[in-house]
Amino acid sequence: MIIDAHLHCTGRETADDVLQALDEAGIDHGVLLAPFLSDGYALDDPASLRRANAHLARLVAGHRDRLTGLAVVNPSDAAAADDLRAAIDAGLSGCKMVPSGWYPYDERVQPTFALAAELRLPLLFHSGIFIDGRSGRFCRPSYFEALRDHPGVRVTLAHLSWPWTDEAIAVGLIDRIHGRSGADALFRFDLSFGPPPPYRLEVLRRALEVLGPESLQFGSDCFLPCAGAEIAQRRGWLLELLDQLEVDADARAQIWSGTAATWLGEAASGIGRSACTKAAPRPARLGRRTRMRPLCC
Ligand SMILES: [Zn+2]
Repeated sequence: MIIDAHLHCTGRETADDVLQALDEAGIDHGVLLAPFLSDGYALDDPASLRRANAHLARLVAGHRDRLTGLAVVNPSDAAAADDLRAAIDAGLSGCKMVPSGWYPYDERVQPTFALAAELRLPLLFHSGIFIDGRSGRFCRPSYFEALRDHPGVRVTLAHLSWPWTDEAIAVGLIDRIHGRSGADALFRFDLSFGPPPPYRLEVLRRALEVLGPESLQFGSDCFLPCAGAEIAQRRGWLLELLDQLEVDADARAQIWSGTAATWLGEAASGIGRSACTKAAPRPARLGRRTRMRPLCC
């Protein structure tokens, strides 16, 4: 069982496109994010995000065994909590947010977090340096400790917060120090890179040794529509690292699906009813141009 817990919609994909790509990549279940980085959609345009969420709700309808949809809202907008509730009512299962022009501890964003706690939603936050080259300063992992004021949410920080991976691991470790298991912890982290290739092995080794596999989950960070081979290549990157670190079968199962299934909670209740059984593809060799490029959205 493999869950890709971080897939971007652009608004150009259809459900058939997505399911075909997942089948080609050997992915059983995809967690799809409403579009916010593609033409016609923007984080500072709440009307565009409402369209984005409606698009995603239509796309996942009837495919809940294979697809989970996360709304995107900008919680600094006064209508964000209402927009999130509407998106959940329409069939989405959680929310992705990118601190861009706001900090997670800002008063004005707390109502959206409070609603997410009330609805016990899984939340995915961008964390770490951001692709726009302007918002990284809002996305430091320790800022997300404000979510501790909203028990009931289950938070994933994306990209292991690169380049602040040590800070992210420290944030995750606090739950453990206070006796919360990985499944019960407020924070877990996705292995959508994130760290460029020269950093990845050491970052993953440290995260595994300090937090364990129950705090880590796979995400390709691919933009749909895309070829299944692209998702498979990113799956292969992680597979190669797990091989190098000689991670055992139980830990791998946790990273490929267990952590994400716990994070998704009820939203994951249909997962696994039509499992994809393709063997894991071997990683394609990285080209020169992709080798150093951080992937972080
Ligand atoms: Zn992303």
